[in-house]
Amino acid sequence: MSRRASAKIFRPGRILFAGALITVLWSACSSIGVDNADLAARSPRPDLLGYYKSGYYESRADFRSIAQKLRTRLPGLQCGVLKLVAAEVADLTTDWCYLPPAGTKGDLLVITSGLHGAEGPVGAAVQRYFMAEILPGLDRSRSGYLLIHAVNPWGFHHFRRVTGNNVDLNRNFDASGDNGLYHNKNQGYADLNEFLNPSEPASQTSYDYFFFTTRSIGKILWHGIPALRQAILQGQYQYPQGIYFGGQAPEQERALLGPLLQGKFAGYKAILAVDLHTGYGERGVLHLFPNDPVNEAVRSATAAIFAGYRIDWGSSDDFYTITGQFTDWMLTLTPRGSLYVPMVFEYGTLDSQTTAGSIESLKRSMLENQGYFHGYTSADQKQAIESDYREAFYPTSPHWRTQVMQDTIQVWQTVLPRLRTLGER
Ligand SMILES: [Zn+2]
Repeated sequence: MSRRASAKIFRPGRILFAGALITVLWSACSSIGVDNADLAARSPRPDLLGYYKSGYYESRADFRSIAQKLRTRLPGLQCGVLKLVAAEVADLTTDWCYLPPAGTKGDLLVITSGLHGAEGPVGAAVQRYFMAEILPGLDRSRSGYLLIHAVNPWGFHHFRRVTGNNVDLNRNFDASGDNGLYHNKNQGYADLNEFLNPSEPASQTSYDYFFFTTRSIGKILWHGIPALRQAILQGQYQYPQGIYFGGQAPEQERALLGPLLQGKFAGYKAILAVDLHTGYGERGVLHLFPNDPVNEAVRSATAAIFAGYRIDWGSSDDFYTITGQFTDWMLTLTPRGSLYVPMVFEYGTLDSQTTAGSIESLKRSMLENQGYFHGYTSADQKQAIESDYREAFYPTSPHWRTQVMQDTIQVWQTVLPRLRTLGER
């Protein structure tokens, strides 16, 4: 992948600009991760908040309990588990339920949660609400539904985005089939590696931490935000202890999920795959990220299904592309001639579309990773860093949680009837 902007020469005007930017960003940072007035005005709904569980096992137990209750109401419901082999935890599974149509296969809705483990509590809450409250009332004549809970159970359980091998699963799925992905060289990342992955114990009171914003601004001025964001976020395959590491081989989850997905996809004319994430984007807003459409038919189907919603097609300034994406790989499992529409639902938490938000977001991810590999300067620092990280992916605000659930319910109500018409082609 080519970098969009190469290094630029420093000019005196930039230094003045940098001073102004530092002042603005230092003040802006205090409002990051805080509900704005609109969000704060939203009344929390206890019935929706009950779906948010604190950890992987609570979430999985609830998924299984809902599945059990649905069995009598929805004959034909199939559920199963994929067992992950992890060294230090015996009981980690990806659970799934599949409801086939009553008649001929038309369209299939797939909802996956917890690909990034730390984002699992929110995705799983949204998913379990769908399962308990929406699924029983849906048209089943030609429509099928596949729900996959905790794609990355190790990360969900340990509250890390990555797998037990520090692999960001959404950078790990090689769609080419030749494992060429793992040979990608991300030179932009290599240039930043020491800045992104310090090797001393993590602390929010260290010299490095104090000057992090200032150093980030220096990098922004030197590289430009789009190039910097792209280099950091696209994925890297060179530094196994670094952030956004995509692995050096396919992770176990791929072998577990492949046969399940391929088997369930068979026979459908249209497949909408919704992968649930948190962290990126404007706080309290549901962002819709399709992949780069493979062709015009997919693009127009995506636009038709999500008409009325803002779809981030990748033309905005804060856009970046990633390699090894899960939803790209799923395409390789779909039946020939079917229409496959991937969509990432991303629930924003830290306003990472702004410069201050993107710096804050990066800082929290870096510190968590640094602490994981190199420890913390104290128990208090560990607690503070983990708490900030948690807020970046699983905000405690009941207003935020209510908004996320209500927005998603509304999307399902709009989108599912449209999906059905695509399956009737
Ligand atoms: Zn994510």
